[in-house]
Amino acid sequence: MAPSIVRQLSNICQLLCCSFFSLFPRLLVTFLTTWGFYSLVGISVTAYSCVPRFLFIATAGIFYVLSTVAYFQTVRVGGGSPIDLPGFHIRASDPIDAQLPPNVDLNVTAKENGKMRFCNKCQCWKPDRTHHCSTCHRCILRMDHHCPWFATCIGYRNHKFFLLFLIYVTGLCFVCFLASSYAVYDCLYRPKSFIIVPLNWVALFIVSAVMGLAVGVFASYSVYLSLCNKTVLENLETIRYKTSLPTEAFRYREAPSSKSLGNIFDLGWRENLRQVMGERYWQWPLPLTFRERGGSASSRDGTSFPINREIYEMAQNLASTENELLQQQYNYRHNQRMQMRGESPQPGSQYRNNNSSFQGPTQYQRSPDQSSDDFYDDDLGYYNNPKQVESIPLTRGL
Ligand SMILES: [Zn+2]
Ligand SMILES: [Zn+2]
Repeated sequence: MAPSIVRQLSNICQLLCCSFFSLFPRLLVTFLTTWGFYSLVGISVTAYSCVPRFLFIATAGIFYVLSTVAYFQTVRVGGGSPIDLPGFHIRASDPIDAQLPPNVDLNVTAKENGKMRFCNKCQCWKPDRTHHCSTCHRCILRMDHHCPWFATCIGYRNHKFFLLFLIYVTGLCFVCFLASSYAVYDCLYRPKSFIIVPLNWVALFIVSAVMGLAVGVFASYSVYLSLCNKTVLENLETIRYKTSLPTEAFRYREAPSSKSLGNIFDLGWRENLRQVMGERYWQWPLPLTFRERGGSASSRDGTSFPINREIYEMAQNLASTENELLQQQYNYRHNQRMQMRGESPQPGSQYRNNNSSFQGPTQYQRSPDQSSDDFYDDDLGYYNNPKQVESIPLTRGL
């Protein structure tokens, strides 16, 4: 068989597998919610009188419709990727000028050299809170996690719909559990005309209890993270804010990070929820996209986020302390060497680092003529002749 035919067959198989793995969970979730609502209607009509019947069907109907819309909105909208934004995706044919990182309001999780992070797999710039998904094979803005039940990533654009789906499905499960548990109990323990409990009722009782518990716990966890303005990934790992010194050179234990300073994106629960759910309260329960988000362009497209000024100032103070410590260490060693040579220390020759502010995080780089041995002090574990090369504004990636 010709190699081209084998390659084509392999591609078709891969495509079919991908389609199956993305279609199956979507069909399963749709089937479960539809079956749950259908069974509840059956139970309500058979086992309940007029008023509770209406209440059960109306409440479950609202939860069913809203959860279904939220589910398909989550899948349709997707998490959002910087690849789709102008200026973030780099092509080999682009001129050098176009390959610079784009302007964003703020970039607090840049690399240690101050540049915006870059994804080599997608060939795109990675703004704050963006991560590469190995399942979707693309970078996702404000990535929360990859959810196999949706066969897509949860990110900046569909996080609201994801949260709403979890909340509404928990509500649907609760109503189904309430209706089925009482109906099953009524069948078993009260002598009536019918003795056999319908299998559908028992199945609904078990499935709604298990699913309600599992989804409810995850919904509570997701709401809690949203109140703290954290994603699942950010809750699992420490975010390093742009450090003022290379960590391998200066082992300062309190380097600015979410572990030592707290979450720099936390603006209080009300503002945190507003960032996910929408500007106005009446928009929060609706699984619809509203295009009136305030702020600048980069804060609207998920490439930058407002920060907590208190934590920002703490990071500034920490960077300033680091710089002072480094200056004192340099001065001490410089004086020691002068004394060993029998020379008197010259105040003018002392190392000065005037930029001790976090606004322009001090960047220390090895100059081309320096060997690694005379730059790094193995005994003390820090650079013995730090050279301030450039001060990179925090507001720019480069
Ligand atoms: Zn990527
Ligand atoms: Zn993904």
